[in-house]
Amino acid sequence: MPNVDLYEVLGVPRDADAAQIKSAFRKLARQYHPDVNPDNPEAEEKFKQINSAYEILSDPDKKARYDRFGTTDDQAGPNPGDFFAGGAGFGDLFDMFFGGGAPPRRKRQGRDGGDMRLDLKLTLRDVLHGAERTVSFLRNDPCSGCRGTGAEGGKSPEECSSCQGTGQVSRVQNTFIGQVRTMTACPTCAGEGFVIKDKCSQCAGRGVQSAKQERAVKVPPGFDSGMSLHYAGEGHQGTGQGRSGDLYVVLQVASDDRFERQGTELLTALEVTFPQAALGDRVTIEGVDGDVELEVAPGSQPGQVIRVKGQGLPALHGGRRGDLHVELIVRVPKTLNAEQERLIRELGKTMGEDPSGPGPGILGNLFRKKK
Ligand SMILES: [Zn+2]
Ligand SMILES: [Zn+2]
Repeated sequence: MPNVDLYEVLGVPRDADAAQIKSAFRKLARQYHPDVNPDNPEAEEKFKQINSAYEILSDPDKKARYDRFGTTDDQAGPNPGDFFAGGAGFGDLFDMFFGGGAPPRRKRQGRDGGDMRLDLKLTLRDVLHGAERTVSFLRNDPCSGCRGTGAEGGKSPEECSSCQGTGQVSRVQNTFIGQVRTMTACPTCAGEGFVIKDKCSQCAGRGVQSAKQERAVKVPPGFDSGMSLHYAGEGHQGTGQGRSGDLYVVLQVASDDRFERQGTELLTALEVTFPQAALGDRVTIEGVDGDVELEVAPGSQPGQVIRVKGQGLPALHGGRRGDLHVELIVRVPKTLNAEQERLIRELGKTMGEDPSGPGPGILGNLFRKKK
């Protein structure tokens, strides 16, 4: 970056302290990061400038040299545009965008295990009471033949001589911004940082074997589909210094034809006859856990909802149970026997009507014209 004032690049005064510099860098890096500016060469260029400036100003030695001479060794030289990818500034970038840790200087031996996800299907009744289950699953465990090293007899793998165990080699490319040095995975060890000369015959050098596991799972009442139980370190096991993954048991509540769930509330429907709706009745319906008695009041209307307190579901963290909401569906009989028909006609007469089949109404007229 020739002829560019590094303090100007970061937008800080010359007497800015380390914290100011870092904060300005983070703000700008976030603003110009390629991930948030895809296909924007200007932002990319700016991003590179910010990084180079921060690389120098965040290093007390380089900063002192820059303050004194207006340049540093990094800037001088035949390629003033030289941009060193993988420099000190990138540690901070990794912190910011990937949640921690600069790329390791020397690879740890071993591999991370990786997380596991299992689905567990449960019923509404389980939501009411909570549930205990045993889940079984296959996961990767360290190979018993090599104790996870991948080398025959459990010997330690050897450090890769091509990359001195870092797993990365640098490559210099000429580009429009000058020479760019990028780090790529070491081809000798495929980025592992170590090589296995004599592979374990049991696992073919992978260091892992599949093993069946069982785990008791306790599900609290009030859970909902999509919630998961988290068991740290119980997923695929790491080998060597690798980290073991976590186990997630994802809960699924099976759909139940009888009920619709809305949080702690349950909705259901109840068919009643016209006499039941008109005269009222005491009926027993299926609740989520056994029978529920409810009162259909005289004169109930179609679509009316009866609330049965405390027959819904519990909240996840305790508290009172929700309610059961029962919608009334008043059934009109499709066929009548002679006695029923006679009685309904009688009833109609008492209501001042004399229905004689498809008759005087608009629909009746339409019906007749069609004939
Ligand atoms: Zn093995
Ligand atoms: Zn290597």
